[in-house]
Amino acid sequence: MTRPTDRTRVVVAGLGESGLLTARHLDPRRFEVVGVSSKPLLVSGQGLGHRLAWPEQWARDHLVPFDRYRRLDHVCTVHAELVGLDLATREVLLRRPDGSPATEPYDVLVVATGVTNGFWRRPGLQTRAEVEAQVRADHERLAAAGSVAVVGGGAAAVSSAVNLARAHPGARVDLYFPGERGLPLHHDRVWDDVARRASAAGTRLHPGHRAVVPDAALDALGTGPVAFSTGQDPAPADVVVWAVGRVRPNTGWLPSALLDEQGYVRSGRDLRVPGHEHVYAVGDCAATDPLRSSARNRADKQLAHNIAAALDGRPLRRFPAARRRWGEVLGPQPDGLTIHDPRGRGWRIPRPVVDRVLDPVVVRRVIWGGVRPPS
Ligand SMILES: Cc1cc2nc3c(=O)[nH]c(=O)nc-3n(C[C@H](O)[C@H](O)[C@H](O)COP(=O)(O)OP(=O)(O)OC[C@H]3O[C@@H](n4cnc5c(N)ncnc54)[C@H](O)[C@@H]3O)c2cc1C
Repeated sequence: MTRPTDRTRVVVAGLGESGLLTARHLDPRRFEVVGVSSKPLLVSGQGLGHRLAWPEQWARDHLVPFDRYRRLDHVCTVHAELVGLDLATREVLLRRPDGSPATEPYDVLVVATGVTNGFWRRPGLQTRAEVEAQVRADHERLAAAGSVAVVGGGAAAVSSAVNLARAHPGARVDLYFPGERGLPLHHDRVWDDVARRASAAGTRLHPGHRAVVPDAALDALGTGPVAFSTGQDPAPADVVVWAVGRVRPNTGWLPSALLDEQGYVRSGRDLRVPGHEHVYAVGDCAATDPLRSSARNRADKQLAHNIAAALDGRPLRRFPAARRRWGEVLGPQPDGLTIHDPRGRGWRIPRPVVDRVLDPVVVRRVIWGGVRPPS
């Protein structure tokens, strides 16, 4: 296809953290970058606990209009839902918010449509006002609750239970999870540390409780009681936070030839889809390694490098995967931010350093390349 530019046209499908960071690293002198997203702003899937407990604080770095990112000034963003891919003509098929169809041609396609894993992370079309209204409504409902049951043992559930207990000390907050320990994909030491902090915050921990999950659990906050298949009596609660890790890849728009048996995008450690040299995948939808960890291991920069290297005939870099989950679990706490490495060691960054150095310098300036203040 001939187009009026000699730059390589890269379509980034999905503008969550991985898609945006990949776009930010693509050299605008060489690449014409188009990003397609069902949301007109970054709606991060990270930090559920802060989103529910302190939504304004969370929004500062997790709910950000695209035009505030300086390094995305060269990226043309399209607010639309991806509904199909034509590998032969190299076009993605879109549905615009008014329902009309559209297409975007590409020379190179980056698939970064992430996963759905609960009411806070959904792939459908939304306006900014709709996203903000949902964040506000969830927060207000939880702030008014006398009792909250959080169901799940992963990072989203644990961070919700701890931060809600801290934000609403008058409310009862219970965390129900099926194993003896939470955070099963992290090193054991991480749970030891986090469980201690949860108890100190007033969260009541209930190991060995496998909840019966209603079909609607993925869609919205629920209402108690919570029933268990492990024999305990149902637990009453004014509000239920379902964070049970029922993760589904947002890949229904892709041909099955690109997907593995679970629906994730087949991708090598070089982030390229085998047999489709113009297609790459990154982030939570990419089956790069058993933990699908390319997002947290910052493969976005490597992907931008590999796209250029492949076009030049240079060798591609391979993505180094960790065997265990790592990173932050609870988000910033009064005494600082703890980041656990893959060996389970916790590195605490004191709160003043988080507020004065980590957030403004490391996150906004280094990782994102500059973020304009809100207008
Ligand atoms: C800098 C950084 C630090 C991190 N630190 C940690 C950490 O400490 N601990 C930790 O656990 N994890 C960490 N992570 C990882 C993080 O938890 C997630 O893995 C990451 O946010 C997933 O990003 P994603 O882009 O793959 O998915 P998402 O952020 O979910 O983005 C996917 C986007 O695609 C859109 N989309 C989906 N389907 C369609 C469609 N059909 N049409 C149009 N748009 C669609 C969605 O609406 C969404 O906007 C980190 C990630 C980054 C980048």
